[in-house]
Amino acid sequence: MDHFLYCNGILHAEDVPLTEIAAHVGTPFYCYSTATLTRHFRLFQEALDPLDHLVCFSVKSLSNQAILRTLAGLGAGMDVVSGGEYRRALAAGVPGDRIVFSGVGKTREEMTHALTHGIRQFNVESDAELKVLSEVASAMGVRAPITLRVNPDVDAKTHEKIATGRKEDKFGVPISRARTIYAEAAALPGIEVVGVDVHIGSQLTDLAPFEAAFSKIADLTRALRADGHSIWRLDLGGGLGIPYTTSNETPPLPLDYGAMIQRVLGDLDVEIEIEPGRLIAGNAGILVASVIYLKEGEGRDFLILDAAMNDLIRPAMYGAHHDIVPVVEAPAAIDQRPVDIVGPVCESGDTFAKQRQMPPLAAGDLVAFRSAGAYGAVMSSEYNTRPLIPEVLVHQDQYAVIRPRPSFDEIINRDRLPEWL
Ligand SMILES: *Cc1c(COP(=O)(O)O)cnc(C)c1O
Repeated sequence: MDHFLYCNGILHAEDVPLTEIAAHVGTPFYCYSTATLTRHFRLFQEALDPLDHLVCFSVKSLSNQAILRTLAGLGAGMDVVSGGEYRRALAAGVPGDRIVFSGVGKTREEMTHALTHGIRQFNVESDAELKVLSEVASAMGVRAPITLRVNPDVDAKTHEKIATGRKEDKFGVPISRARTIYAEAAALPGIEVVGVDVHIGSQLTDLAPFEAAFSKIADLTRALRADGHSIWRLDLGGGLGIPYTTSNETPPLPLDYGAMIQRVLGDLDVEIEIEPGRLIAGNAGILVASVIYLKEGEGRDFLILDAAMNDLIRPAMYGAHHDIVPVVEAPAAIDQRPVDIVGPVCESGDTFAKQRQMPPLAAGDLVAFRSAGAYGAVMSSEYNTRPLIPEVLVHQDQYAVIRPRPSFDEIINRDRLPEWL
């Protein structure tokens, strides 16, 4: 459920008509709903309520500081995957001891910075990283709290590019080697083992792969404790999927996910961390664009928008579906016609939807891409020298631009001409 609904025939974000925001900031733009973010975050809080837990928002899904501050204000921790995201979380006011650091390629600089400003734990992904982290921490005279990200060899049954828990994926250490690496970790002077971490992929629409992975984590936890390690925190990653169409998709609810976690891990007496991104941010954001042209091709018509693959890459990258709806509601009785919905970028991949049934639209009309909050703005680029589009946050009847559109001068003046030119 989200807070983007038609009211008097106009699509609103909470109490604000999107036509009003479009008139003020121009199109295209991203628009997020505070009420939806809050609702989704609280679903996880309630789902894990009986357990000692922390919900760490996956910053990479939607990293604007206004979003991070909104969620931190509700009690969220943050999961970051780079030094840049770590700095963003700190800048948004999140204390270091509520930030967990994931990712396969952490550098010494990133480790030093996080250890200096505070960290809840590093989710370590290899023995090479473990040794470097120990060196960095020892040189600073501290011990780095860690979990080891284990790869449980479970197929998340999701899109190839976002499955992370099979043995052929680059993430984590094979679960079969975990006990050996924990023994190494315990012997390292700069390392303090606190728990185990797992994250098997994104946009999972079935609880079974999660349960398979978490059962393996439960067994591993018992084995590690028997080996003498103190394992008191389990980080279960993110990955719960969302419905991208209003029709027949029904991914599991956070409440059922939470109940499964309690059933599989509840007797271990551990603190549970989860790292949801998409489920909190995905349906809390939309992308609003204008029609530039309606082009009649041979046998098919094209709706050319002012948004393009550089603004929302999910259709081009993952073949992802986004519902695209007119901002001014079409009469229910009107005839829909199939059109290809495309952007202006010079790539055939710059296609948002093929032969999508749409009501008649004309140049200047507004459309909204639903479910664009996660992996939308954060994956955008300036390809074709198209400025990054603004982000707007709505709160009830108020809205604010939380990232302005840069001017062409700002973009072009970043280039430097070498002396010999
Ligand atoms: C991407 C990622 C997440 C978030 O995944 P969602 O599918 O957005 O919930 C959580 N943890 C790690 C380590 C990730 O890489």
